[in-house]
Amino acid sequence: MFHMFIDTEYAPEKCSLCSGTGHDGSGTCEACGGQGDVLVAQPAIICPLCNGAGYLEIGMCRACGGSGWALL
Ligand SMILES: [Zn+2]
Ligand SMILES: [Zn+2]
Repeated sequence: MFHMFIDTEYAPEKCSLCSGTGHDGSGTCEACGGQGDVLVAQPAIICPLCNGAGYLEIGMCRACGGSGWALL
């Protein structure tokens, strides 16, 4: 029943962790791998845990992998 996967569309959205630059403070951004954007299932949903920031007080948001977008 692989038709289940066809409905989902993905589009590049700006990486919140690096603000689209592809770099964080120390090097290549972990969330996007240096791309500056990440593929997000559409419609894109802001990560509810970090509110789209990509990080929390304790560090990178693990719910979204730092991208700031909910990964579905
Ligand atoms: Zn990034
Ligand atoms: Zn998050």
